[in-house]
Amino acid sequence: MRYVSTRGGMAPARFTEILLEGLAPDGGLTVPEHGYPRLDAAELAAMRGLGYADLAFAVLSRFIDDIGASDLKRLIDATYTPAIFGSAAITPYTALEPGLGLLELSNGPTLAFKDMAMQLLGNLFEHVLARDGRDLNILGATSGDTGSAAEYAMRGKRGVRVFMLSPHGRMSPFQTAQMFSLADPNIYNIAIEGVFDDCQDIVKAIAGDAAFKARHRLGAVNSINWARVVAQVVYYFKGYFAATRGDGEEVSFAVPSGNFGNIYAGHVARMMGLPIRRLVLATNENNVLDEFFRTGAYRVRGSAETRQTSSPSMDISKASNFERFVHDLAGGDAAVVRALWQRVDAEGRFDLAGGPLMAALPRYGFVSGSSSHADRIATIRATHARYGRIIDTHTADGMKVALEQRETGVPMVVLETAQPAKFEDTIVEALGIRPPRPPGFAGIEALPRHFEVMPASAERVKAFVAAHAP
Ligand SMILES: *Cc1c(COP(=O)(O)O)cnc(C)c1O
Repeated sequence: MRYVSTRGGMAPARFTEILLEGLAPDGGLTVPEHGYPRLDAAELAAMRGLGYADLAFAVLSRFIDDIGASDLKRLIDATYTPAIFGSAAITPYTALEPGLGLLELSNGPTLAFKDMAMQLLGNLFEHVLARDGRDLNILGATSGDTGSAAEYAMRGKRGVRVFMLSPHGRMSPFQTAQMFSLADPNIYNIAIEGVFDDCQDIVKAIAGDAAFKARHRLGAVNSINWARVVAQVVYYFKGYFAATRGDGEEVSFAVPSGNFGNIYAGHVARMMGLPIRRLVLATNENNVLDEFFRTGAYRVRGSAETRQTSSPSMDISKASNFERFVHDLAGGDAAVVRALWQRVDAEGRFDLAGGPLMAALPRYGFVSGSSSHADRIATIRATHARYGRIIDTHTADGMKVALEQRETGVPMVVLETAQPAKFEDTIVEALGIRPPRPPGFAGIEALPRHFEVMPASAERVKAFVAAHAP
């Protein structure tokens, strides 16, 4: 399989050629050149009953054909193990009541769903870098979940260093402890005296210096990485088989959404032939995507307009993976995508209402909704009272919209994207009790910390990178 850019300005490339890259050279995102692989009913039936790693191989081998099958199998088997994800199920499924279930994606090392893809990425990177005799220095900015998932995936990996910028003193105590307690020599935590936007601006400034980027072999692992997307497709299959008995039955998924990475993977699974009825997109107060699916208007928010909420990993101003879906909506016409994003660059928005793309939208099964802090508190309380189960703030956003969009006869699977222990304060606000911490996380705030404090200066960060990755 070869990949091209959503904007049409990239020569077709194989999987391992795009694995280490971020945006396509024309500013677009990489997608399969000739659409998604289709599974027929017999192939789908044969996947039911596979363990997680075998299922992952069955899905991923359709997208990755330039890593040998035995190597790919070995890398996948080394990733999806009970030692890393806490149980043989990897993504345990709990039926809360008939027709409503929870698929846990948050049992990896950092207790958030980003581990599902990032852990595989660490193994793929190490393999491809060793094969090609290269090394890579990952530079990123985080307000919490992405940075810790990247560090735990890359720690100890040969050929990879991570330089992760975070706003000094502004991450939750739990997230700070998780990241800063890592003592691996290839992980560098840089606490920037500023806010998250300052961190992101520094990363952008450095990535924009092409000579520096090339000299120090800089790369990124953000949510537009294609390997992350395909790794996330797998658990939609897992959830589908867990929630159904017979092939051909339909299932809906509710997905707490920010950058449209998780739910786009659900769209890919649906396009591959998995019988998904609805993809229920849930946002918090930052409702860029809910607005789009209700009205057809996509309007990016300014940084002043982006709210800090109690589901912080969904606090986005634009949805980076969304362009991949619009590419499908436009029937793969790169010129249409290019024109739409030119409008986003110039005016901060486009509106599909009344046009042919809007007419095509219902075919893809998306519905949406959003929630507020009060909704989250109410949903956490109701879920605890009804099912004896504590869910985190992001999952609560998904649950709230799931209940609004449920249809009789169609099981609704809510994706659990983080564990409540990561967002203790809001759980205490809702329930008056502290969520239990999984084993191994007790007292992490007291561990020795490894980090550098730096002013918000791209030059200072560059000097640090140059000194540690010559
Ligand atoms: C990143 C994240 C999300 C949002 O996922 P997207 O792929 O950006 O839509 C939701 N919940 C949690 C806990 C996250 O860490």
